[in-house]
Amino acid sequence: MDNKRFEQLLLSVQKPGRYSGGEINSVVKDKKDIDVRFAFCFPDNYEVGMSHLGMKILYSQFNERKDIWCERVFAPWPDFEAVMRQNNILLFGLESREPIKDFDFIGFTLQYELSYSNILNMLELSGLPLLAKDRKDFTPLVVAGGPCTCNAEPIADFVDIFFLGEGEQSDLEVIDLYKKCKKNGKSKKDFLIEASKIEGVYVPSLYDVSYNDDGTIEKITPKENAPMPIRKRIETDLDKTYYPEKFVVPYIEIVHDRAVQEIFRGCIRGCRFCQAGFIYRPVREKSVETICRQAKAICESTGYDEISLSSLSTSDYTKLEPLLNDLLDFTEKDKISLSLPSLRIDNFSDELLEKINHVRKSGLTFAVEAGTQRLRNVINKNITEEEIIRTCKTAFAGGYTAVKLYFMMGLPTETYDDIKGIADLAQKIVDTFYEMPNKPKGKSVSVNISVSNFVPKPFTPFEFHPQITREEIVAKQQYLKECIRSRKITFNYHENKTSFLEGVFARGDRRLSAVILKAHEKGCKFDSWDEYFDLDKWNEAFAECGIVPEFYANRERTYEEINPWDHLDYCVSKGFLIKENEQAKLAVTTPNCRQKCASCGANVFGKGVCFEKR
Ligand code: SF4
Repeated sequence: MDNKRFEQLLLSVQKPGRYSGGEINSVVKDKKDIDVRFAFCFPDNYEVGMSHLGMKILYSQFNERKDIWCERVFAPWPDFEAVMRQNNILLFGLESREPIKDFDFIGFTLQYELSYSNILNMLELSGLPLLAKDRKDFTPLVVAGGPCTCNAEPIADFVDIFFLGEGEQSDLEVIDLYKKCKKNGKSKKDFLIEASKIEGVYVPSLYDVSYNDDGTIEKITPKENAPMPIRKRIETDLDKTYYPEKFVVPYIEIVHDRAVQEIFRGCIRGCRFCQAGFIYRPVREKSVETICRQAKAICESTGYDEISLSSLSTSDYTKLEPLLNDLLDFTEKDKISLSLPSLRIDNFSDELLEKINHVRKSGLTFAVEAGTQRLRNVINKNITEEEIIRTCKTAFAGGYTAVKLYFMMGLPTETYDDIKGIADLAQKIVDTFYEMPNKPKGKSVSVNISVSNFVPKPFTPFEFHPQITREEIVAKQQYLKECIRSRKITFNYHENKTSFLEGVFARGDRRLSAVILKAHEKGCKFDSWDEYFDLDKWNEAFAECGIVPEFYANRERTYEEINPWDHLDYCVSKGFLIKENEQAKLAVTTPNCRQKCASCGANVFGKGVCFEKR
């Protein structure tokens, strides 16, 4: 289709900027000069996908290589999807506007389970068979990476290769192997067998799964000498790890429209509900010099006037004060604002507040997670009520009047007292504000409590626990509403239907591929968007496939049961997870990695926090 016609069609949709390409720093190459074309697909819309740091890193890293051209692809919003289907437009790369079915690789990033139906829709819009076994041609190869690969069994039937852990090196090793196999006339199967030998590469078709009569897994058996278990890959030296100096700058507003500077990977804390805290272990920090150099380069190449520091827990960066001093040197001079998300409430000092006051003056956000000390101990969120109140006092004295607190509902061992504890804590914060002699004059306080539904995830100590039912969630949400007495407290909560499906997929096995296919045929897509999510259609799909979703979400699992992800090695041992789960039942906390090593297994990489002096 010529450009003029394409542009005319774009005028009929809500946000043409999602599909036009041509943004600053996007990369266009001459296809005559390249060997490998890679479609980096984000299975959600442009605004969400363009905010994702992993895509920015790999897009730039691939395009630094002369022989690779990586293009971006996002899930078309339903208005543009209708235009595509009416006009026989196949899913295309934003840079070339050429169909991705002619590329060598189609790579998806799996950030959340509710994007799975979009993956199928994108494959269909590409004009490709959805099932890996039906794609007989060598190319395009469908690959996937991102956090959900730690149990991507529900989409195992659609994907040729999964990348476990951090992909900077394994991606390129697979691409190089592909070039070699192509040149030597090897088949797709030969290539996949060879690829499975690369560390961090999981080829699901090389593993057979058998089941017991009760529906649990009997055995996972590798074929063709495929490795067992398959170990994740990580970058051991972040100062030497590739980080882009340029980001593509969108024409339209996106979710996080700013420069992002990663400061470390992993988390020392070990909160027992948090998958990221376990699968990204061990903590590895970048040096202050590297962070400042990279941050400067990004601001210069993009013209952004805001930079955000990215990590799982920013205030745990060991040299935060020197870092802020050095960053403020150039951000204040260049009028760039600095934001620090992911601060912990227990190491929020007066000095840090003083620095943040230079940085921003919007509301403060803290993840408290549970309303009582007992439950915070169960989940290993090592913060006390005293610390929470003290931090709020510090913040109020510094001029803040709005506090947002994140909580979870449905945590293991939770009782109605813990739910009431959420409201009581919010009330204490309101009272603290009004009792302060030095509170900001003429202002009132606002405490927002945002409550999400806990979903047990693989590779966490809570992977054995049942998720609470939708009915229990509704009852607890209602009870919490009744417990809130002050108008200064607002309460937001999450949909229970989407959390339920997320829970099914998070710990699902590959029998769910049939359900996802069926749901796709019924039109399911954009499941993380309330306006499109349709649980009735999903329930029909489960029923037609003879699968009971509660088996995956709401069932307690024994320590002996073989989990669908047990052949994957994220270097936190099952023995460690069991020990942590037992400690949780006793409400006993585990010190963080910098206080004491808990022997999780992540020290096999020989780097990071495991080797710091304690
Ligand atoms: S081995 Fe010890 S220090 Fe290293 S990540 Fe695990 S618990 Fe933390």
